Amino acid sequence: MKLRAVGSFLVGLLVVGLVLSSTPADAAPKYRWKLAMTWPTNFPIFGDAVIKMADMVKSMSNGEMEIRIDSKNKHKAPFGILDMVKSGRQYQMGHSASYYWKGKDLNTMPFTTMPFGMTAPEQYAWFYYGGGMELMKKTYDKHGVYSFLGGNTGNQMGGWFRKEINDLDDLKGLKMRIPGFAGEVLSKLGVVVTNIPAGELYTALDRGTLDALEWVGPSLDIKMGFHKIAPYYYTGWHEPATELQFLVNKDKFNSLPKHLQKILTTAMQYAAYDMYTRSYHDSAIHWAAIKKEYPHIKVRTFPKSVIKRMKAENQKLLVEKSATNSEFKAIIDSQSAYMKKVREWTRISDFSYLQDNLE
Ligand code: CA
Repeated sequence: MKLRAVGSFLVGLLVVGLVLSSTPADAAPKYRWKLAMTWPTNFPIFGDAVIKMADMVKSMSNGEMEIRIDSKNKHKAPFGILDMVKSGRQYQMGHSASYYWKGKDLNTMPFTTMPFGMTAPEQYAWFYYGGGMELMKKTYDKHGVYSFLGGNTGNQMGGWFRKEINDLDDLKGLKMRIPGFAGEVLSKLGVVVTNIPAGELYTALDRGTLDALEWVGPSLDIKMGFHKIAPYYYTGWHEPATELQFLVNKDKFNSLPKHLQKILTTAMQYAAYDMYTRSYHDSAIHWAAIKKEYPHIKVRTFPKSVIKRMKAENQKLLVEKSATNSEFKAIIDSQSAYMKKVREWTRISDFSYLQDNLE
């Protein structure tokens, strides 16, 4: 009897010890969320930003909140993120790009990037201090979700072309994959615009279904193999600062305790910033390697006559769409007014510096 009592006392001590020694991080999380992203499993840079955000939330909350990530391989709806987060049934949050819903709500499009628009530092300044976040919140309010910045690719390249573009005639009948507002602009110049999913792009280019396409830039392009078929690599005009986004169901966000709201918001903002610097780094490193490994790639800039027409058609389209949509007009007006102001600073700072010091 006595021995048994000592035994159970020791077992009791062990249990207490285990309970005391377990840190809160070992305890089951109080909030288990799920995030759906547009990107496939193990997608570099974009997917890494999401993982970084979820890791930060877990450690900063001491394990109180955990976010599981589902890639498009799992949920099978890469362009259905807004709807899934809106319903909040399976996913409390998502990671995607705002211009993917332009068919559903045109006004979400300018929050990714616009042709001839702001560069990444200019656009970040607009979002955080120039009224951009407030406008984006207003646009997404009616969908029942909050939208946060989700990482920037930086300036995207104008795409891979099989043949050189010397004048406007070279664009007529050219079959090109290019999404967003830029696609609408190019179709005014006679380009046959299509939007083929990423996995089929190489084959389409190889078989001549496409004569040209744009993807991102050196950070993500080279492993797609486009340079093997289309050696002309054009500089960008159409996506100067592509910002991805985190979407969070409003009710779910509001039901989080205040400190977790703060942790989540901070983690998203950090992950976005980190993705921008990572994109810049990977572009630099990859471009150095590409130049060495594939010397046949020819970097080109579109002729002035082509750029001039693109700009004119872009402007015309903006005016056309603004005439019937006051919310779109308010966003575009805010962006162009801000760009006008901020560009003067860019001109006498980074631009002057580079112009004077490029070797
Ligand atoms: Ca692109």
